[in-house]
Order: sequence, then structure tokens, then C-alpha cells
Amino acid sequence: MKRGRLTPYGERLLRETPVLETLRGLDPRGVDEVLGIAETCAEFARLHAEPKALELDERMEQDPEYFDRELVKAAGNYHLFSLVVPKVLGGLAGKYMLTAASLGVEEICSACAGIGNMIAATGLGACPLLTPGGMPHWDTVLHEIVEGEKRGEPVLMAYAITEPSAGTDVEEPHFLARARIGMEARRVKGGYLLNGRKCFISGGKEAKYLTVCAATDRSRPLETWTVFLVSRDMEGFSVPRVERKMGQRACHAAEILFDNVFVPEENVIGYEGDGMSMGILAIMAASRGPVGAVGTGIARGVLKNFLSWARRERGGRKPIEEQRIQMEIADMAASIQECRGLILDHSLAGDKVFGSLLVNPMMKALFALPRELRLSRPYRSFLHSRLGKATSARLLRLLVSEDEMTRLLALASLAKFASTDMAMGIASRALQLMGPEDSEERRRVEKCYRDVKVTQIYEGTNQLNRLTWFMVEQEGSLRIELPRPPR
Ligand SMILES: Cc1cc2nc3c(=O)[nH]c(=O)nc-3n(C[C@H](O)[C@H](O)[C@H](O)COP(=O)(O)OP(=O)(O)OC[C@H]3O[C@@H](n4cnc5c(N)ncnc54)[C@H](O)[C@@H]3O)c2cc1C
Repeated sequence: MKRGRLTPYGERLLRETPVLETLRGLDPRGVDEVLGIAETCAEFARLHAEPKALELDERMEQDPEYFDRELVKAAGNYHLFSLVVPKVLGGLAGKYMLTAASLGVEEICSACAGIGNMIAATGLGACPLLTPGGMPHWDTVLHEIVEGEKRGEPVLMAYAITEPSAGTDVEEPHFLARARIGMEARRVKGGYLLNGRKCFISGGKEAKYLTVCAATDRSRPLETWTVFLVSRDMEGFSVPRVERKMGQRACHAAEILFDNVFVPEENVIGYEGDGMSMGILAIMAASRGPVGAVGTGIARGVLKNFLSWARRERGGRKPIEEQRIQMEIADMAASIQECRGLILDHSLAGDKVFGSLLVNPMMKALFALPRELRLSRPYRSFLHSRLGKATSARLLRLLVSEDEMTRLLALASLAKFASTDMAMGIASRALQLMGPEDSEERRRVEKCYRDVKVTQIYEGTNQLNRLTWFMVEQEGSLRIELPRPPR
């Protein structure tokens, strides 16, 4: 999209989201970039996701292991796997990274939430690398994501925190302190040995890299929760099975087995023991808003198909001519608009936090250094050293406050549970109104109804998200602590 001149898509999006129109008055370049990314996602949704949505859903009901590589390649051609990769590395993430990602996710999920989740799993897996502790891996792993897209062979990632004995428990500090954790990362010479299982990992079957949280002492999970970067090539790593899913089938949910997987010291993201704050809460503070956008996307898909159904004549009448149907449609539109407002509240607040890190002059100066230098042994040794880690932790403290991060978590949780519950309600209502008669629109709405359920479960169940909001905003009992260099 050319700066200054809007496409019809951009005009429509601004009309539907007045806050962006206001922001464009203040920062035309930044907002035009957001509109460009959203439009790219909308095009992918229209040309690739929507035509495949029903067929892929049916195929993966029969064969849950199936993986559509052509679709992955197509998404790579639109650079959708580098939505969260910083622009300094050739990715799409700039000043308004979260706003662009939220609007983009909504577009893709309005066509197929399974395909949306398959793409977003890489972004989620990459998120821990975007924390200062992940910087040593920018020029390797994140660079590989960008290069993979250029080659037509996208490099995928996944995020693995859930264990068979601990789901909700690993997403909240008070619960993790009492959790029965099965997986352990035992310290050995030069690194850690990972043993145990992770389950329900979106995109885990095909991911080349995974960010994995594990306790280094199972009897003290909260104090020792740590983020590791794991490569699927590591010995002892395997994917024994994928789930047979009800919805979002286009994205595998995999079980991952770690059998004495040696992970070198350099692959610890940040400090040992800061996994709850930096590996879970900071990630959820960014990602739960876009999960809300999965909800608004699904709800938009429902509304689109419901409208198309209502406009068709049956028995000499069109349902849309009835006032009660018109009012239902207006209610659906209002709920979607309301929730998009919550998502934008979160994403714009988040962009103030994360965007400021990405476009910070210090960051730009660092990445203005030639890549060969950044890959040189002395430079990389510095990044992995105590001093290097301490420098990035201090940089984070300089740019971001614990209050801001914690408040962002509350906004993210609110947007997530409100939007996904709203989408569940809309899908259910539309299905009831459409009745039992088969049609393509009804099949798409029925798929939305199945797809939306898991959005109320992953990234913290909606019960947990409500409690998170309460703990932050009403009790003050939950706080994101930024990493402190050990003395
Ligand atoms: C399709 C799918 C994809 C997923 N993708 C990923 C992924 O990519 N990576 C990953 O790590 N995980 C993933 N998950 C896991 C997901 O995050 C967990 O399922 C979720 O956190 C809930 O955990 P659980 O299933 O163990 O349920 P439980 O924690 O057993 O919860 C069961 C019920 O009890 C309630 N509950 C539990 N504890 C409390 C409490 N203390 N107070 C009040 N209520 C409570 C919950 O709200 C819920 O209603 C995925 C799950 C699914 C189904």
C-alpha cells in the first residue's frame, strides 16, 4: 500500500476502526504499515485460507497427521511467519507489531482459525526469543525464519509449556508454586538434560525450533522455571503422537517426548529461574490479545456466512427481510466491534511497550553492525556471557517498567476472554437461527462453532484469564517481575 493513498481495503478498515484513523492523523507512516500488513493477511485469507478451509477440516478429521505443505509455502510467500520477526532482521515487526499482528490474525481467522493457528504457532514460539534474553538467537533462529520464507521453505516454531499433569498450573505463579510438574531439566556439564513430556503443542509436529519451559528442580517449579530453545534435531527429541481434534484441525496439537535431550547452556533464554515472568507472563501479556483476535476473526466468519445465508430466498422469503434477523445481525456486529476495541486497547498499549524496544535507537545501532561481525565468535560470546545477559536485562529495565508489563497482562487477558466468549456465543446463536438445513454457509458456521471452543482453553482457560485480570487489577497479587542480573 502506498503511503498517503489508501486502498479500498484500507479505507474500509479505517472506517470500521476509528481509533486507527485518529492514530493515522498522528503517525501516517506507522499506521499505513499496519494497514499494509492487515491487507496482506486479508489477501492470503481470501485466496488461500477460505478456499481450503472446509476441505482441510474434513481431510484432517480423517487423517489428523496430514500437513498441508503447499499452504505453508503460500503463507511463507506472504511472509506471515515473520510477523513477529523484527524489521532489523528483515521481518515485518515494527513499531506497531502487536496491532498489525492482531488485525492480521483476525483476517486469517475470519476465513479459517485452524490455518490461522498453524501460522500463529510460529509467532508464539518465537516470542520468548524477542525478550532480551533471546537476543543471542536473533541472528540465527529468527534470521532463519526470514530466509526460509525467501527460499520457499518456511522454518516453523512452537511454544511448549503444557505438561500432562499441569496446564492451568503452569500459567500462573501461585499455581505453579504448588504444581505437580513431570518434566525436569537437570543441570549437567555444559548444559541441561531434558526429560519428560509436553502435550497439546500447537504446530509441535512440524516445528524446527521450540521454546520450552521446564523446571530445573521439580520440587521448586516456580523458582526454577526456565526457558530453553530446543531444536527438533537434538538427540532424544521425538513427537510420538498428535491429537484427534474437534476444531482448528489444520493445526496439529502434538505430544512431545524429551528423552535425555541435551540442551547447551547457550540455549537458556535469559536466566535460569526467570521462566514464569519472562517465559510465560511476558509472553501472555503480548499474545493473549491476538488470541482475542482469533475470536473476533471467527465471529466475523460467522457473521459473513450468516449474512450470505440470510440473503438467500427459501420458501418464498429471505430471512434478512425479518426485523428479528436484522436485529440479531446488528447485535453480532456490535459485539465484534466492542471486542475489537478491547483488542486494540491491548495492542496499542503493547506496542508502546514492545514496539519501543524494537525501534529503539540502541537496537537499531546494534543491528547496523555488519552481520558477519554479529556472527563472530567474540560478539556471540559476549551475548552469552554474564555481562552480555546483564546488559540486555538492564536495557529492558531502562525501557520498560514492571507496572506497564503487568497492566498489559491484564488488558491482554480481558481482551482474550471477552472476545473468545463473544465468538462462542455468536457461533452458537447463528447456528440455532440457521436451523438444520444443510448449506455451505451452515457448514462454515458449524466449523466456526467447533473452531472457537479451543480459544476459550489455550493461552490460559478463560476462567484463568478472568482470575488473572482480577489478581492484577483488583487484588494487586500478580505482578510481572523483570529479570535482575544475579549479583
Ligand atoms: C488444541 C490445543 C492447542 C494447544 N496449544 C498449546 C501450545 O501450543 N502450547 C502449550 O504449551 N499448550 C497448548 N495447549 C494447552 C492449553 O494451554 C491447556 O490446555 C490449558 O492451559 C488448560 O490446561 P489443561 O488442559 O490441563 O486444563 P486444566 O488446567 O486441568 O483445567 C481444567 C478446568 O479447571 C479449571 N481450573 C484449573 N485450575 C484452576 C484453578 N486453580 N482455579 C480455577 N479454575 C481452575 C480450568 O479453568 C478448566 O476449566 C493447547 C491446548 C489445546 C486443547
